[in-house]
Amino acid sequence: MELGRYSIGIGDRFAHQGCAQLAALIRAAEQGVTVTPVWNKSHREHRIIGSSPVSVRAEADAAVRETGWPGPYFVDADHIHLGNVDAFIASSDFFTLDVAEAIGQAAEPDSIETFAAAMNSFTGTLYIEGLAEPLAVTEDSIRVIARRFLAAVQQAGRIYRHIAERKGSEDFITEVSMDETETPQSPGELLFILAALAREGVPARTIAPKFTGRFNKGVDYDGDVKRFSREFNDDLAIIRFAVAQFNLPADLKLSVHSGSDKFSLYGPIRRALTRHQAGVHLKTAGTTWLEELIGLALAGRDGVQIAREIYRRALDRYEELCAPYATVIDIDTDRLPPAEAVDRWDGPTFAAALRHDRACPSFNPHLRQLLHLSYRIAAEMGPQFLAALDKHADAIAPHVTENLYDRHIRPLFLDV
Ligand SMILES: [Zn+2]
Repeated sequence: MELGRYSIGIGDRFAHQGCAQLAALIRAAEQGVTVTPVWNKSHREHRIIGSSPVSVRAEADAAVRETGWPGPYFVDADHIHLGNVDAFIASSDFFTLDVAEAIGQAAEPDSIETFAAAMNSFTGTLYIEGLAEPLAVTEDSIRVIARRFLAAVQQAGRIYRHIAERKGSEDFITEVSMDETETPQSPGELLFILAALAREGVPARTIAPKFTGRFNKGVDYDGDVKRFSREFNDDLAIIRFAVAQFNLPADLKLSVHSGSDKFSLYGPIRRALTRHQAGVHLKTAGTTWLEELIGLALAGRDGVQIAREIYRRALDRYEELCAPYATVIDIDTDRLPPAEAVDRWDGPTFAAALRHDRACPSFNPHLRQLLHLSYRIAAEMGPQFLAALDKHADAIAPHVTENLYDRHIRPLFLDV
């Protein structure tokens, strides 16, 4: 199973835009860059929408058939753990093992000592090609890292073996994610996490660390771009070194769980990938539903009415909608327009406030973040919302395709 050098998380809340998303990848292929599509939907998303993992496989297969997408594609069980993976096993061939919760949990003292002893040859000053500064490693610093991360790595091993057993095969892509935690992992920590994964027998093809800075949902990066850039470069150097040193898949690459739309990072990421001749997996699925809202708003009276209605209900349920996302949003409620004002907006005004165009003075990142979380309301509207998506499919699709191609694929994979 080949993920390829570049891959991107796609898929959408309501399983309507598979073809429109593939159209963007087909356009990229015509420009000479192959990006492998990976449909992803988390357990939480399924619960909120009321969908099941098998529906994602059905959407992916149908979209590939319909568009004639010639390359590989995958269905990712996103952010799964032992408690919820079983429902994904039959339909997925890509598993994101989320072990962030186990970070900091105590591993057996014996396993920490065994690991530290096995890593003995990596103590001292490590000059790793491409790393900004040499790494100073002591036996104690390895123990500190093991105490923090070994339990998480062992948990990844348990989930991996569980999937392989149930599937009766090891023929799937394994991602290990540690991004949903407060503290970023340093490049030195990443090195020993990878070493531990290799020893645990987890054939990780992608690894998603927590990067420095805030990755708020649906809006741009909030942090120190220079620091991110240095960290990202260092991580690429570490991965290359780790692949050569340990028994890890040769195509292991970073996975960036972007929370969508980290536009100011695309340039630095692209330059780093070029410098290190490396690949990347980008997860950025969640904003296709906002393009559906933009398409609906521009499609006509009934479309913009639905968009305004969703915003009104989202304002009413602000606390409830935002609570589960508190650490990944940054909404200033004073900047949210009142529902009465939005009720007077026409379609283009609504679309301009929502569309992620930083150059547009009407763009409102607060409204955008709130609507990003409000797919629960559209799910509750049920048939009414889905009928509108069907009715206005032709008006919506170009927004989905252009958003993915112009704002993501081009700056990240094509622009020089
Ligand atoms: Zn994530």
